[in-house]
Amino acid sequence: MPDTPLDPVVEKRLRGIRLARRIYAPRTLGLLIGGLCIGSALHELPTPPWVWTLWALQILFWSHLAYWRARYHASPYHAERWNLGADSLLGGFWTAAMHFNVLPSVVVLTMISLDNIAVGGIRMLLRGFALLAAGAAIGMWVIVPGFPNVVPSSTVLLCSLPMIIIYPLAIGYITYLQARKLNRQKTTLMELSRADGLTGLFNRRFWEGQVATHLPTDSPATIALLDLDHFKRINDEHGHGIGDQTLRTLAALLRQSFGDDVLLGRYGGEEFGLLMPSTTLEQAMARLQHFQQRLGRYPPPPPLLRMPTCSIGVAAKSPLMMNHEQWLLQADQALYAAKHAGRNRICVDGVPTSQTTLDLG
Ligand code: GH3
Ligand code: MG
Ligand code: MG
Repeated sequence: MPDTPLDPVVEKRLRGIRLARRIYAPRTLGLLIGGLCIGSALHELPTPPWVWTLWALQILFWSHLAYWRARYHASPYHAERWNLGADSLLGGFWTAAMHFNVLPSVVVLTMISLDNIAVGGIRMLLRGFALLAAGAAIGMWVIVPGFPNVVPSSTVLLCSLPMIIIYPLAIGYITYLQARKLNRQKTTLMELSRADGLTGLFNRRFWEGQVATHLPTDSPATIALLDLDHFKRINDEHGHGIGDQTLRTLAALLRQSFGDDVLLGRYGGEEFGLLMPSTTLEQAMARLQHFQQRLGRYPPPPPLLRMPTCSIGVAAKSPLMMNHEQWLLQADQALYAAKHAGRNRICVDGVPTSQTTLDLG
């Protein structure tokens, strides 16, 4: 997936080329096994040489020509739609050339309609029907078919079987691969929409959403807002790049220290959110104190000599909270109190700062 959005014209062109590429293999396969099916019916009729020539040319060259045409066309998508129209027109012609021999005609009509509906839905299907009818009319005009063969010969039956069996399986498999690819892309997009670009932690919107969903649950939960102390100095003294590396280092340490059971988000520039489900205030405090001590010993990105300290505001969930904003506000006020009391400490809202501040500096 490209990092930067593409020009919409280029994007549209690539989409058209991808469509042409997706159709290339089934069209080649369909022409080979469909050609066998049609050829078996033509063989039982007084088919003129020019019709046989057209039959051979279509089987041998059409899918490559169609792909090449779409690939280098100014609008590949429209070229491929045109190619599908040509498939229908030619299919209609072959039904007339087969004197409407029922089994191969139905097989050809069904498979072409399958392609049309798979690519463009009902509209494309109806357009395909019209073109099939037009192709059949042209065929009737140049060939003048006899009465249709209702009961197929055993040769025609056998030669139609590969198309009946293999072609729908191939289309089904391609659809399956396509669905799997779309699913993977959906997962990637979902992860990207949740992630903070710099640190890979959850972004604020997603993290806050998680806080909101944890508020009404029965189990205890605690949140913490962590802000790096005097972070601006790092930017000022060493540049924004080192500042970014410091934020990434902190995110890595948070991941190492809290693992998957704590939801970690980047709340703002150098402020991080920790949502600790099934964790009481005391348990959260113990883990956060341990983290603060680890941060002091953790190797910083060079040329920093040590990681910056951090201030943390903690708030446990309470049944009195009406909404998650209140929960966040309590943690924010506790963080403010920690900063105000001198930084590098943990504060809990609701309890006087002087009693709960843990000065680890
Ligand atoms: P305090 O202890 O009061 O929190 O001081 P501080 O310097 O950490 O806080 P302040 O709010 O004054 O400055 C935060 C700085 O964080 C300012 C801003 O340039 C920087 N910052 C915010 N986002 C990013 C980022 O993505 N990368 C870098 N390198 N710096 C950032
Ligand atoms: Mg700060
Ligand atoms: Mg800040």
